[in-house]
Amino acid sequence: MLSQTEKIKRTGIFGYPVDITTREQAVDLVLQQIQNRQGIQIVTINPEIIAAADKNPELAKILREAELVIPDSTGVMLAIKSLGVYRAEKIPGIEFSWELMKKCEQKGFSVGFLGGSPDTADSLNIEVHKQFSALNVVFSHHGYFNESELPIIRQELLRADPHLLFVALGSPKQEFFIKQHKNILHKTSMIGVGGSFDIWAKKVKRAPVIFRISGLEWFYRLITQPSRFTRMFPVLPLFFFRILFDRQNLRLY
Ligand code: UDP
Repeated sequence: MLSQTEKIKRTGIFGYPVDITTREQAVDLVLQQIQNRQGIQIVTINPEIIAAADKNPELAKILREAELVIPDSTGVMLAIKSLGVYRAEKIPGIEFSWELMKKCEQKGFSVGFLGGSPDTADSLNIEVHKQFSALNVVFSHHGYFNESELPIIRQELLRADPHLLFVALGSPKQEFFIKQHKNILHKTSMIGVGGSFDIWAKKVKRAPVIFRISGLEWFYRLITQPSRFTRMFPVLPLFFFRILFDRQNLRLY
C-alpha cells in the first residue's frame, strides 16, 4: 500500500488509472516508499500503452495494479483536463526519473539500471557518474539478454537489492518485467523509463525545448524516428476521438 495515497487522487482514463499529482508530490511519494522499503511499480502512461493494454488483458491488469501511474503525454493530459481537472501536471518520465536519481544521490539511496544496448549501458554509467558522482549504483545490465540469462540477472538484482531500479526495455516489456519481479524484489521500487537511457547516455538527442513545451515531443520523435509511425497511428488520432466521443469512460474517482 502507498503511505500517502490520501494526497493523490485518481482518474479513470478509458478504464485505466492515472494519478493526479504534482511532480513534487509524486517525487516525495516515491522517496517515502523508498525510505520505508516498500517497493512500488511506477508506470508512465500514454495513449500507446493504453491502446496496447486494450488488446492485452495482462497488460491492462498491470496498469490497473500499478501503485503510481503518472501522466507522461499530451494526450493523457487532455483527457484529464477534459474532466475539468486543471491541477494535474504532465510529468515526463525522463525528467521524473532524473529528479529521482538526484534525490537518491542526496539521500544515499542506491539505484540500479536495467536496459538499453550494451553500448548504451556502458555510456550510461559514465554519464550518470559525471552528473551524480556520489550516487550509489549497485546494479547495471544491458537489456538484450535471453531467457536463459534471466536467472543470473535476477540473482544479481537480489544481491544488489537497489532502493530504486530504472528499467528501460521499451514498453510493454519493461512493465511485464517489473510486474514479474515485484514480489521477489519487494523492497525495490521500479519504474519503466523507455528510451531514457539512450538520452542519458547521449546516444540519442531529446526533442528541443520548443517541442517539449508545446506538447509536441511525440511529433519530434515521429519525424526523427519514422519507424514509430505504425505505432503512433492510428493510436493518437483515435485517442483524441475517444476524448470527444467516449466520455462515459472518463471519470474522476
Ligand atoms: N530495449 C532493451 N531490450 C529490448 C528492447 C528494447 O533494452 O529487448 C531498450 C532499447 O535499447 C531502448 C529502450 O529499450 O533503449 C526502448 O526505447 P523506446 O524509445 O523504444 O521506448 P518506448 O518508446 O518503448 O518507451
